[in-house]
Amino acid sequence: MVLTGKNNIGVYFKAAYEAKIVIPALNVPHVPMMSAIADTLAEYDAFGLIEVALLEIVKFKSQSWAVIAAEYERVADPRYTSLHADHTPAIDEDGLPVDWKAVFQEVLSLGYKSLMIDGSRLPFYENIKITSEVVKMAHPKDVFVEAELGAVSGHEEGPAIPYAELFAGKKGFTNPEEAGEFVKKTGVDWLSVAIGNVHGPIAAAVRNQPKVEAMLDIAHLKKIKAAAGIPLVLHGGSGVKQSDVDQAILNGITKINIGAVLRKAYEFALEGEGGNIAAGQAAVRDAMQNLICNLFHIEGSATRLRQLAGNQS
Ligand SMILES: [Zn+2]
Repeated sequence: MVLTGKNNIGVYFKAAYEAKIVIPALNVPHVPMMSAIADTLAEYDAFGLIEVALLEIVKFKSQSWAVIAAEYERVADPRYTSLHADHTPAIDEDGLPVDWKAVFQEVLSLGYKSLMIDGSRLPFYENIKITSEVVKMAHPKDVFVEAELGAVSGHEEGPAIPYAELFAGKKGFTNPEEAGEFVKKTGVDWLSVAIGNVHGPIAAAVRNQPKVEAMLDIAHLKKIKAAAGIPLVLHGGSGVKQSDVDQAILNGITKINIGAVLRKAYEFALEGEGGNIAAGQAAVRDAMQNLICNLFHIEGSATRLRQLAGNQS
């Protein structure tokens, strides 16, 4: 199974970055969630990425990169979406090294249009080194690369820093000067930043607890944007203060990853309805509608981005 077709996603991202249109990236920890996500994007003429992270394959029920690619080919309309390989960390959330080269060889052979290498647990220059290697693997295949600089916490086991302390002390925030150097030295296309955002917890004991309402340091984001000059990515997009989301989109955030809110909608509905998958999918549709119409205001963004991208090429 190899996904074919010209890869326009880089042009779409440039257009979205300049026009300040956000592209949500929707995580699929359970395979049946994908058709509900794809259908809702098409229904509202909205553009969004469908994505899966390595830990969703290992710790949830995404099954494999190949199963996700096959489901994508079956249910997704490329006018409204593109397939992205989310987080493959160099060091995983449990502190173990990952054979990221093997992962990316597979992802590239399956036709994913963009991918993320997460070297954020490495020292700065090691993160630069492996991100550069991934760019060298991906760019000749016309595949775009996202990297992460700074620490977006939440995936690790063990006690987390209290949120107020993290935000006030800018703990793990992306350093703007480093961001500039990182982009120049790696040639990466999109950069995931830490500005107060946190991932939804995934450790089994806490993954269903409510997520803290995160805030974003917009002044800090502006400095990163000025230094990096490429589309920026916000991970942990579920449950961020609405006015901060709006400001982030106006200040360089082009891609917002959404995991927890869709996963919980699916899992809770499935549980309440005795395992009925259609009930889970209906809940995902409702959550998607809320994201598209109320949070991101991207009804019609697929047509708009297609026009803008056409004008650029
Ligand atoms: Zn993430």
